[in-house]
Amino acid sequence: MGAKKFNAKDIYHFEELISREDRMIMDAAREYAQTQLEPRALEGNQDEQFDVSIAREMGDLGFLGVFIPEEYGGAGSSYTAYGVINRELDRVDSAYRSFVSVQSSLVMHPIHAFGTEEQKQKYLPKLATGEIIGCYGLTEPDHGSDPGSMITSAKKVDGGWKLNGSKMWITNSPIADLCVVWAKAYDGKEDGVIRGFLVERETEGLSTPKVKNKMSMRASPTGEIVLQDCLIPDENVFPEIRGLKGPFSCLNNARFGIVWGATGVAENCYHRARDYVLGRTQFNYPLASMQLVQTKLANMVTDITQMQLLAWRLGDLKDKDRATPEMVSLAKRNNADAALSIARVARDMLGGNGITGDFRVIHHMMNMETVNTYEGTYDIHGLVLGRAITGIQSFVPRGND
Ligand SMILES: Cc1cc2nc3c(=O)[nH]c(=O)nc-3n(C[C@H](O)[C@H](O)[C@H](O)COP(=O)(O)OP(=O)(O)OC[C@H]3O[C@@H](n4cnc5c(N)ncnc54)[C@H](O)[C@@H]3O)c2cc1C
Repeated sequence: MGAKKFNAKDIYHFEELISREDRMIMDAAREYAQTQLEPRALEGNQDEQFDVSIAREMGDLGFLGVFIPEEYGGAGSSYTAYGVINRELDRVDSAYRSFVSVQSSLVMHPIHAFGTEEQKQKYLPKLATGEIIGCYGLTEPDHGSDPGSMITSAKKVDGGWKLNGSKMWITNSPIADLCVVWAKAYDGKEDGVIRGFLVERETEGLSTPKVKNKMSMRASPTGEIVLQDCLIPDENVFPEIRGLKGPFSCLNNARFGIVWGATGVAENCYHRARDYVLGRTQFNYPLASMQLVQTKLANMVTDITQMQLLAWRLGDLKDKDRATPEMVSLAKRNNADAALSIARVARDMLGGNGITGDFRVIHHMMNMETVNTYEGTYDIHGLVLGRAITGIQSFVPRGND
C-alpha cells in the first residue's frame, strides 16, 4: 500500500493513473522538453523563431504521430501517450505542442484515416521522422467558427483538380512541405461538397505568406495558404471522405491533445507561482504566508486536479474508442479556459517580475489566448455542448435556422 503523504506537486497522485508504457513516453518527453526545448524557448518566443531542427529531433524520439501504426512510421502507441507528450511540451511553450498537434493530428491522422495506400506510404513515414513538415488548412479569412461556409474551391479538370482560394491562420504553413487543404469540390456531380486535398510545396500557384506581429504563440510559424489555379493530381485527393466530418475528425484528435497540453501549462504556471511566493518576502513575511496568496494556490491546485482527471479519463475513453466529440468539447473548453485563468493569476502573483519573459508565466498567458481561440473557441464548444444537452442548435439566431 502506498504511503499517505501530501505531495504539493501531484496532490491526487495523478501520474499513477498513467500506464507504465505511457509513463516511459512521458519521462522521455519531459527530459527532452526540459533539457532541449526549455533553453531555446524564451529566445524562440522573442524572435518569433521556430528552429526547424526541432522537427527532426522530435521525429527521432518518436513524438510525431505517436498513435499512428508502426508500419507507417508511427509508434503505434495509445492516445494517452499522445496526451502525455503534449503535456510535457506545453509545460515549456504551447508553440512546440502546436507543431506536434498539427503534424500528428491534423496531417498524419487524415492521411492515415482517409488516404489511399499510396498516399500513406508516400507521406506518413517522412512526416513521422520530421523529414517533411505538414500543415492543415481549414480556416479562411472570412470563415472561422463556421468552416462549412468556406469558399476555397476545387474544380475538376483533366487528370486532377484546380484549387483556388485562401486559408488563414495556418500553423506551420510558412515552413510546410505539404498542406492538407479542405475545399469545396465541383465536378458536375457532387458540386459544393467539402473534400480533402494534399498540396505539395512545389505546386505552381501556391504561396504561404507568414502572419506577422503575433503577440501569442510567437515561436509557432503561422501563415496563409494562397492557392491560385493550383493543379492537384487525382492521386492527391482523399478518395472517400466527404463533408465536414473529415476535417472535424482531425480537430477532435488535436483538441484531445490540447486538453492534456493545457494541463501542462497550468501545472507549470502553478509551480512557478508557488516557488516564487515561497521565496519572496514583503511586509517582512514570505508572500506564501499571506492568506490571499494561499487561497490563490489552493484554487490553482483544485482546478489542476480537475483538469488532470478530465484529461486522464478522456484518454482512457479515447483509447477504448468511446470518446464522443462532445466529451472532447467539454474538456477542451474547460482545460483551455482554466489554464488561461491560472496563467493570469500566476502572472499577478509574480508582480513586476511576472511581466518579464524570464519568469515565463506571461509567455504561457499569451499563448493560452490562442489556445482558447483555435480548434473551436470557448463559446463555440459551449454551443456544441448546448446542442447535445438540449437537442436544439443555437449557432445562428433563433428564427434564422
Ligand atoms: C495562432 C493560430 C493558429 C491557428 N492554426 C490554425 C490551423 O493550423 N489551421 C486552421 O484551419 N485554423 C487555424 N487557426 C484558426 C482558428 O481555428 C480560428 O481562429 C478559430 O476557429 C476562430 O475563428 P475566427 O478567428 O474566424 O473567429 P470568428 O469565427 O470570427 O469568431 C469571433 C468571435 O465570435 C464568436 N462566435 C462565432 N460564432 C458564434 C456564434 N454562433 N455564437 C456566439 N459567438 C460566436 C467566437 O466565439 C469568437 O469569440 C489558428 C488560429 C490562431 C490564432
